[in-house]
Amino acid sequence: MPYILIVEDEQRLASLLADYLAAAGMSCHWLAEGTGVVAQVRQQPPDLVLLDLMLPGRDGMEICADIRRFSQVPIIMVTARVEEIDRLLGLELGADDYICKPYSPREVVARVKAVLRRTGGTRSMSQGLEIDEPAMRVRLDGRLLDLTAVEFNLLAFLVARPGRIYSRDQLMEHIYPDRRIVNDRTIDSHIKKLRRKLEQAAPGRELIRSVYGVGYKFEPDME
Ligand code: CA
Repeated sequence: MPYILIVEDEQRLASLLADYLAAAGMSCHWLAEGTGVVAQVRQQPPDLVLLDLMLPGRDGMEICADIRRFSQVPIIMVTARVEEIDRLLGLELGADDYICKPYSPREVVARVKAVLRRTGGTRSMSQGLEIDEPAMRVRLDGRLLDLTAVEFNLLAFLVARPGRIYSRDQLMEHIYPDRRIVNDRTIDSHIKKLRRKLEQAAPGRELIRSVYGVGYKFEPDME
C-alpha cells in the first residue's frame, strides 16, 4: 500500500485529501508544519510527499531541496499561486509535479497515481540486497542500511551488473558526471565506507570486491 506524507497547514484540506487518498487505497501521514518534515522523511520514508509551499515553520522550497540531498522520493509541490509554478520550475528544485490551489481532491489523487506510476517499479533484489531507487533505500537481509547518496549510487551502479569490474575512473564518471575535481582516493574512501556498512549488516559476506590494480565489482556469492 503506497504511503503518502501530506504536508499541509490547512487541517480541513489535509483531512479531505487523506480521505480521498485512503479511498484510493493509500495510507497517509499528516504534518501541519514545515519543521519536522525532513526528519519524518528520514525516519519513515514515504512513497510520495505532497508538499505545500507556504507553511508555518519552514518553507516548502527549502524542505524540497533538503529532501533531495538524501532521497529521490517523489515530491508533488502544492502552491496557492499559479504564477508561482513558473518560478518553481525555473529553480529546478527536483519536484516531480506541481499542483495549484484550489484543486479538487480527485485531481490530486490522479496526479499522485500518475507520479507513482512514473517513478515506481525500479526495486531490484540481488543477494539479499533490496534496492529501492526512487526512495534511495537499501535493505540487506531485510535490514535497512544508512547510506549516503554517493554510497547509494555506487552500490546501485555496481549491483546492476553483477561480476563486471569497473575502474575508479568509470565509477567517478558515474558519480560525478560534471567531472568535478576529485581524485581516485575519493572513490576508494566511499567504497571503503560502503563495504563497512554492508559488512556490519551481513558479517562475513564480501559483496563488493576490489580487483587489485583495476577497480571494483559486485560479486554474487558462489554457492
Ligand atoms: Ca499553506
